[in-house]
Amino acid sequence: MRRSAARNVSVVAAAVALLSACAQALPSSVATTPRPPEKTPVAAGYGGAVASVDTDASAVGIEVLRQGGNAVDAAVATAAALGVTEPYSAGIGGGGYFVYYDAKSRTVQTIDGRETAPRSADSSLFLEGGKPIPFADAVTSGRGVGTPGTPATWDTALDAWGSKSLKRLLEPAERLARNGFTVDATFRSQTEANQARFADFPASAELFLPGGQLPVVGSVFKNPDLARTYAELGRKGTDTLYRGDLADDIVRTVRKPPVDPAATRVVRSGDLTARDLAAYRTKRQAPTKVSYRGLDVYGIAPSSSGGTSVGEALNILERTDLSRATQAGYLHRFIEASRIAFADRGRWLGDPAFEDVPTKGLLSQRFADSRACLIKDDAVLKSPLAPGDPSDPTPCATGGTAAPTTYEGENTTHLTAADKWGNVVAYTLTIESTGGSAITVPDRGFLLNNELTDFSFAPANPAVHDPNLPGPGKRPRSSISPTIVLDGHARPVLALGSPGGATIITTVLQTLTGHLDRGLPLVEAIAAPRASQRNGAATELEPGLWNSPVRAQLEAIGHVFTQNPEIGAATGVQRLPDGRWLAAAEKVRRGGGSAMVVRPAGKPGK
Ligand code: GLU
Repeated sequence: MRRSAARNVSVVAAAVALLSACAQALPSSVATTPRPPEKTPVAAGYGGAVASVDTDASAVGIEVLRQGGNAVDAAVATAAALGVTEPYSAGIGGGGYFVYYDAKSRTVQTIDGRETAPRSADSSLFLEGGKPIPFADAVTSGRGVGTPGTPATWDTALDAWGSKSLKRLLEPAERLARNGFTVDATFRSQTEANQARFADFPASAELFLPGGQLPVVGSVFKNPDLARTYAELGRKGTDTLYRGDLADDIVRTVRKPPVDPAATRVVRSGDLTARDLAAYRTKRQAPTKVSYRGLDVYGIAPSSSGGTSVGEALNILERTDLSRATQAGYLHRFIEASRIAFADRGRWLGDPAFEDVPTKGLLSQRFADSRACLIKDDAVLKSPLAPGDPSDPTPCATGGTAAPTTYEGENTTHLTAADKWGNVVAYTLTIESTGGSAITVPDRGFLLNNELTDFSFAPANPAVHDPNLPGPGKRPRSSISPTIVLDGHARPVLALGSPGGATIITTVLQTLTGHLDRGLPLVEAIAAPRASQRNGAATELEPGLWNSPVRAQLEAIGHVFTQNPEIGAATGVQRLPDGRWLAAAEKVRRGGGSAMVVRPAGKPGK
């Protein structure tokens, strides 16, 4: 999501930028509007709900619901709008994972719309002379671009469960691209963070640095190329992106990235072909499922590590009564369960089309119990912790070779939607880094992803097989964790998700336990200061925990911490006991999110 890079953007900075906006001459294509739309982190009412990071995008989803669309229609329309207003986080040049609860059948179903590597890719994709190329070089290259999965995800979702045409659902986003949205401090800051990269690609510079300048806060940002691209997708269908003109443009751009001849940056080309795009398919697959304190928690199965990691950690935590624990006791258990889940994730998770992924074993209570046995109340596990073996769950086993968690970017966006029939969608979509590859497809108005950098460039642990090495048509391991929780009658309780690369898993876990165990209202569970442990020596803490007495209590038993100014940016929806929907988003992180319902009623409760 575009707020990721905005960690240091304060209200003061926003005000300063706004003032400077008045002083600067605006490029001719840019007009000013009085102020950005208001954001609300929580709303409750009837008729359906949408929560996203962006007011314009949430409003698009609400409008679709109001016009009789269902949650899937609303999710697709909201996602398309996020492609306009959050172009550095999501768009048709990327991929994602879609989790859907169908009220009629009371079942949860999912779509894996992950980007795939070219057919020619092998484990040496990111090696040169036997050595990994620098991560930043791989990010800004054609090499890191996978076949986009987002347009196919929209098609798959609408074919299976939608009620409106893609053409119709793209129209509000098309209008938003044509008429523009109001630039906020975050958008400007994210553009600034990418300025040097964008400047090296004329198509990106022309779009995101109008007149050679950063977009001005308070101005209107238009993307007529994207409006035309959406119109074409609506008219011709997404086939144009996988087999038609748009496919040709993508392939040409990846194979010969259109770099400014004056740029000194080395931009490697990619080997994506028309055949790769034509061969792209989403996967509809069963969700992951664990039971947790009488509820059923559904997530996304591999190729994402989200469902198995959140599921395993919940199974571990279920053995402790977290509602009675002290704050330090709760955080200790949460941190240790996360550490263990990440140790197992690193060893076992990859694309199941290529790797023997023990999904069932990782989600089994027996395996979780064998791992929970490692946790002590008065001591901290050492990282990197060795993985367990789900095929042979031996209590407290410490065998295996430990490996650190590989680096992943931290940028994407999550939306959650529900409708009046009771259907629910949790959908996380991404182009990987903030600004993806920084390569805009010329005249098309969207950035290409760098999702393939989620692969391990070289084995994380040379002694053991790494399931996340690149391969032909392989999906890089993701951490995306859209989650839907049902009650014992298979009725929705809540749905949520977050951006944040590998921190997604810990954010979803902490928010779930914050609400379900610690009794925080959903919006407060989202707002609570976060910790993230991913089988590393130190656990990251947001300032709210770093500056709290709980840190010293945890350090006293051996925890080591580093600061992370901001972790994740969740959104969720909840079915309230009285039948209303509650939508919830961030209060503060990244400028706050936007929660809306179709017909607001009553005060948002727990
Ligand atoms: N590429 C990351 C993943 O799939 C998502 C990036 C993010 O969430 O910020 O796990």
